[in-house]
Amino acid sequence: MKLNCKHVWEHISEFIDGSVDAQLRAEIERHLEHCEICSAILDSTRNILILTADDRTFELPVGFSERLHERLKKEIEGSEPELKKK
Ligand SMILES: [Zn+2]
Repeated sequence: MKLNCKHVWEHISEFIDGSVDAQLRAEIERHLEHCEICSAILDSTRNILILTADDRTFELPVGFSERLHERLKKEIEGSEPELKKK
């Protein structure tokens, strides 16, 4: 079975939180090695999850985190419907 980008996007949050099964994880990892788009999506999704999951470890100048949250929120809102639609 060969994963395409849409498959990766569908499972990316499970992939990040570790709930994806081992075989699918391996497939996704293999895909990420040669796909820049999915690597970028993984990076930004992971950053968003970290930022929203644990504010206590956040060590950025005051104000910066809020602006970043705003920006990420817009990114999520802008990209999510597009991802879900497919
Ligand atoms: Zn891809």
